[in-house]
Amino acid sequence: MAEKPRFVIVGAGLVGSMLAAMLGREGFEVEVLERRGDPRAGKMESGRSINLAISARGLNALSRLSLDDEILSLGVKLYRRAIHSPTGEISHQAYGVGGQAINSFSRGELNRALAQAAGDAPGVTLRFGRRCLEIDPVAGKVTHVDAATGDDLRTSTGVVVGADGAFSVVRGVLQKREHQDYAQHFLAHGYKELFIPTRADGTPALELNAMHIWPRGRFMMMAMANTDGSFTVTLYLPMTGENGFDRLTTRDEVRGFFDRHFPDAVPLMPTLLDDFFANPTGAMVTVRTFPWQLGGRTLLIGDAAHAIVPFYGQGANAGFEDCLELIEQIRKSPNDLEAAFRRYQDIRKPNSEAIADLALANFNEMRDHVASPWFLVKKRLEKAIHRVLPGWFVPLYSMISFSLIPYAEARARAERQARVLKRVGLGIALAAVALIVWAVR
Ligand SMILES: Cc1cc2nc3c(=O)[nH]c(=O)nc-3n(C[C@H](O)[C@H](O)[C@H](O)COP(=O)(O)OP(=O)(O)OC[C@H]3O[C@@H](n4cnc5c(N)ncnc54)[C@H](O)[C@@H]3O)c2cc1C
Repeated sequence: MAEKPRFVIVGAGLVGSMLAAMLGREGFEVEVLERRGDPRAGKMESGRSINLAISARGLNALSRLSLDDEILSLGVKLYRRAIHSPTGEISHQAYGVGGQAINSFSRGELNRALAQAAGDAPGVTLRFGRRCLEIDPVAGKVTHVDAATGDDLRTSTGVVVGADGAFSVVRGVLQKREHQDYAQHFLAHGYKELFIPTRADGTPALELNAMHIWPRGRFMMMAMANTDGSFTVTLYLPMTGENGFDRLTTRDEVRGFFDRHFPDAVPLMPTLLDDFFANPTGAMVTVRTFPWQLGGRTLLIGDAAHAIVPFYGQGANAGFEDCLELIEQIRKSPNDLEAAFRRYQDIRKPNSEAIADLALANFNEMRDHVASPWFLVKKRLEKAIHRVLPGWFVPLYSMISFSLIPYAEARARAERQARVLKRVGLGIALAAVALIVWAVR
């Protein structure tokens, strides 16, 4: 019988750690190389980590590792959006029906739980502080060094999995080969993390179980709760030009900008100016590439295969779904990894394209449309139709966040639903006009 292949995973972020845990449980030998330190050892900075919204798809994958209950206890449920107007009024929009919620997690806590699961899985070796320099995608070799010193050059061999994020070194090597399609698109906006602490008496300064959004047309701010009652805030601004990061260079400019656009948030952010200048401005990129595998020896997963912008809160959820699909396909043909990898990429690629497009479109919705009364009416109507005809009509947001319907299918179904509703709407309008004409005759 052929020897069971061993895997070398580059990157122990959310997706690399989850995949290592799953492959280990399938009986594979796995070596994981991660340039950062071990998240299991580090003390978490309470309340000061970037948080992520994890919904049905992510929870489904976590449940396969029996981690869903543990992880849920580390999160805060968000049942609705709380929209903050420029004058400080707050209106609410429920995300789903019947108590459906997305979950706000600290990225660090989630990564720590997944690294723990990977470390506990049989046959998995985690090597932190190792930076991958090069790979040979045909031979299945990874060259890596001590991330701190750049010394101690070593080589690991096996099936190479690039789980090394949006700027993947593994993908970089594949990109240099013929027939590797590749495109990256940077958003003209960047983001910056800010912070709302608890009040002096320890209570949350905002409603805990809501995603807070300050939509301002071309830019926006949002805040998600941490378990200690503080909030991680993310500010999304154009990189340059009007209301851009490049215009905010002094403490007075930042203070004036916040007083003008987010007056209700300013009193809640005592470290606003320090945070603004201490925290980096992040870029947001959409990466599209194909194929995702080479000869059953090298594979891409998670952001390395399909980085998307964060506005549907689905990047990690999508990466977790990749892991489930990959394991399912490996189970189908454990002795033919190339066939398994081909099926995995063919199934996941159209879905990653769909969520990449939806995430870009949702930026317009979050920064602009959510503030419009028409948007509210449309959302209410969608929910009402869903309640009456749940089998026929499901709002797109619900399909993406509260179901396991593949992203591409969800998008196609939403387009069909919209076409029918348009026709019904047109029919009703025509009937109304006919009625008026008949009545006035
Ligand atoms: C502002 C923002 C908000 C987001 N919000 C959400 C959300 O609400 N919900 C959601 O589902 N997704 C969200 N995302 C997306 C989510 O963060 C990513 O999709 C997810 O982190 C991808 O996981 P990954 O493991 O593929 O990549 P990463 O998390 O980037 O992990 C890659 C790992 O590889 C390591 N690495 C990189 N290069 C090397 C190398 N050369 N050698 C060794 N190791 C290496 C890195 O150190 C890292 O640990 C958000 C993203 C951003 C930027």
